[in-house]
Amino acid sequence: MPRPLHAIIDPVAIAANLALARRRAPRARLFATVKANAYGHRLEHALPGLAAADGLAVCEVDVALQLSEAERAAGRSRPVLLLEGAFEVADLRACARAGVWMVVHSDEQVRMLECERSPRPVHVFAKMNSGMNRLGFAPQRFAREVDRLRALDRVASITCMTHFAGADEPEGIDQPLAVFEAHAGHADLPRSLANSAALLRDERARDGWARPGLMLYGASPFATVPAAALGLRPAMRLESALIAVQEVPAGGRVGYAGTFTAPQAMRVGIAACGYADGYPRHAPTGTPVLVDGVRTRTLGRVSMDMLAVDLSPVPSAVTGSPVTLWGGALPIEDVAAAAGTLAYELMCAVAPRVPARSSGIDGGGH
Ligand SMILES: *Cc1c(COP(=O)(O)O)cnc(C)c1O
Repeated sequence: MPRPLHAIIDPVAIAANLALARRRAPRARLFATVKANAYGHRLEHALPGLAAADGLAVCEVDVALQLSEAERAAGRSRPVLLLEGAFEVADLRACARAGVWMVVHSDEQVRMLECERSPRPVHVFAKMNSGMNRLGFAPQRFAREVDRLRALDRVASITCMTHFAGADEPEGIDQPLAVFEAHAGHADLPRSLANSAALLRDERARDGWARPGLMLYGASPFATVPAAALGLRPAMRLESALIAVQEVPAGGRVGYAGTFTAPQAMRVGIAACGYADGYPRHAPTGTPVLVDGVRTRTLGRVSMDMLAVDLSPVPSAVTGSPVTLWGGALPIEDVAAAAGTLAYELMCAVAPRVPARSSGIDGGGH
């Protein structure tokens, strides 16, 4: 028997979430953001749910090249956008040859384009730093950089892009959008503004190329709005089983450093899932978990390969009882909140050693 831990990915849910993005932004074209192996969902399981996307966005050069090749092989040739652009000249050449679209956010990248005879004209997304101070040209420099790009015959098209630092906050878009509008100039050029939060929240960000990520996987980008309230369907379940049950006497301590002490005699289940699987090590006692479908809590420290759960609310639980770490009736956002992190991080952290399978594109969920 293999270790019971596995991830189940639902491409039907992904397709439904994409359809929801489409309904919310009917005028936008949608780049499905699939960086970090589709936010931990594994590309091979996520892509069947993304057949209706207009393009795919990643930040790994090798993945961009593979996806671009796969699109061509499938006779679709949807664009693949490299979100951080080229890191060196070799990337630029390879991506240009493959027809990968590229973000251009720095002087170094403009110079690469100026100096290289790229094999094919490239579609570029010129990125403005609208206040996040991560990537992008300063607003005051932006129009000049776009002019530099426009002068290059190897540039096939230019889209003006920015990324919002706080689109999940009520007024998070106002200030950076004002900065973008004031400095983007080039009203004739297409735009790319919205991540999931902006797409769901703000009409103004919905034109051009949107770049939803998190929402496609069925998690809410907003701290105070659950995914279900947005109509999103979670696409990942992380499932395991109890591999041992301990009868712990009153005063008995659980796990490394004994950070949990049983206040009375209690049954404690040991689930096969630990931080080497991507479960957050800092999840404290009390982090929600399902055993046999019943909501209970973790106890003590998370170990590398295991964690302990309170079986008090599930007296029928035995070795082999199913454990849901997140997904299904347990929103990943609840686990993230208890562990002081975000659904983004939990999804992406699921380790390669955790086998994933797809619940299938036919039938499941309808
Ligand atoms: C990851 C990313 C996105 C997607 O953001 P979500 O919040 O997951 O929707 C969009 N744009 C850029 C530039 C990104 O890096």
